[in-house]
Amino acid sequence: MSPLLLALYLLPVIGIFVWYVNSRRRKESASIRAAEEAIAASMTEPPSLHPAIDPTKCIGCRSCVAACPEQYAHPVLGIIRGKARLVGPSNCIGHGACKSACPVDAIELVFGTEKRGVDIPVVKPDFETNIPGIFIAGELGGMGLIRNAVEQGRQALDSINKLKGLGNPKQLDLVIVGAGPAGIAASLGAMDAKLRSVTVEQDSLGGTVAHFPRGKLVMTRPAMLPIVGKMQFTETSKEKLLEYWQGVERQTGLNINYKERVTGIARRPDGQSFEVKTTKNAYVTRAVLLTIGRRGTPRQLGVPGEKSSKVVYRLIDPEQYRGQHVLVVGGGDSALEAAHSIAEQPGTTVTISYRSPAFTRAKPKNRDKVAQLATAGRMNVLMKSNVREIRKDSVAIDVDGKPVILPNQGVIVCAGGILPTGFLKEVGIEVETKYGTA
Ligand SMILES: Cc1cc2nc3c(=O)[nH]c(=O)nc-3n(C[C@H](O)[C@H](O)[C@H](O)COP(=O)(O)OP(=O)(O)OC[C@H]3O[C@@H](n4cnc5c(N)ncnc54)[C@H](O)[C@@H]3O)c2cc1C
Ligand code: SF4
Repeated sequence: MSPLLLALYLLPVIGIFVWYVNSRRRKESASIRAAEEAIAASMTEPPSLHPAIDPTKCIGCRSCVAACPEQYAHPVLGIIRGKARLVGPSNCIGHGACKSACPVDAIELVFGTEKRGVDIPVVKPDFETNIPGIFIAGELGGMGLIRNAVEQGRQALDSINKLKGLGNPKQLDLVIVGAGPAGIAASLGAMDAKLRSVTVEQDSLGGTVAHFPRGKLVMTRPAMLPIVGKMQFTETSKEKLLEYWQGVERQTGLNINYKERVTGIARRPDGQSFEVKTTKNAYVTRAVLLTIGRRGTPRQLGVPGEKSSKVVYRLIDPEQYRGQHVLVVGGGDSALEAAHSIAEQPGTTVTISYRSPAFTRAKPKNRDKVAQLATAGRMNVLMKSNVREIRKDSVAIDVDGKPVILPNQGVIVCAGGILPTGFLKEVGIEVETKYGTA
């Protein structure tokens, strides 16, 4: 073969090889950056079920990275020095697609890490806890994802329906706590079984799904809802899924008590029923089903005026704040991200208030963006400040000991959440702490 012909054949091969090597390098650099950012922001602990990768088995094929349904939105898995790594632990929501995709069985799905234990309640196969009459379904029991939550909510109802002592007219048969996917399915199941039941939800319909970012791609699998039949979704958006559930609520006449939080559950002296205390009521019931998920209850400021409808605990849609004076409270990533996405809306005046002298808990990229907006005069940053009172058209803030009053039409509090473990322990439900085990 002539040297010219050889070069003609070899050049494309070399070109493809160089492109491949460069592309791998770029992806590896992005993964290293993501891992470093997670460490800098102390976001190194996955919230729930997540992959533990055995580096001695991993062949670095990227199948897990490609299979992860969350990877399109933010880094979750990456390949560093030829091995898969969980580079964005806090972005992992436990789909488990990585485990199924791995050709060499290098992935195990586990709860917690060596450093940080995760409390999982002990639940029997029929969803009953160690306290007879109290049941748990959905993500709280360790099984995340929408389809699993729906299936468990329905199945838990089948078990509850077999309890002795139902149908006593002096009490409810069941109180369902939480109206996420598990609570919706269970509430429909209770309706179908004609139980005397009440569903109590501290926030709004849809649970964690209602708090997904706008337009989030939701990956799920079909699941069976009582009364309604098969929920056919595989790939959809947050909005479409919520619209579907709202339609189900309307068509079936499902009755959910919103903006009511359960604060305690106590067994009554008869040993066969419970008193469920909420922020608005007290219910006597034969059984309780906890479908409260694992995200917890947003931490409140505990200041006068906080009950106002202009106060929210998660930003859903920055556009709704166009042209308004908005206060964001908190110093973590969610506070900083909320503040800069609102600052990007035309005509908004955004103030961020944080009690500490620096945003040490947030990712550098979010800190930089806030610093840029502050320098450009598009955001007020009040460090060492505490909100004192939320009034109709203003907020009173203590800034480093000095009182400040700001005009205000909206308050977003991003002060973290109170996890459900404490509540479970108070009720007497046994929990097991898992340190990187299945
Ligand atoms: C960012 C993100 C993306 C995700 N993407 C997907 C996805 O694409 N596909 C997928 O299948 N899963 C996804 N998930 C996981 C999925 O959202 C959860 O697994 C699922 O919502 C769990 O359902 P649940 O009903 O068990 O609990 P939740 O949906 O968490 O609902 C619990 C409800 O209980 C209420 N509650 C809590 N405490 C109390 C109380 N004391 N009193 C009254 N009410 C209370 C809460 O307000 C909440 O509404 C994602 C999760 C996150 C965080
Ligand atoms: S799929 Fe398995 S072998 Fe391939 S990179 Fe991921 S963990 Fe490693």
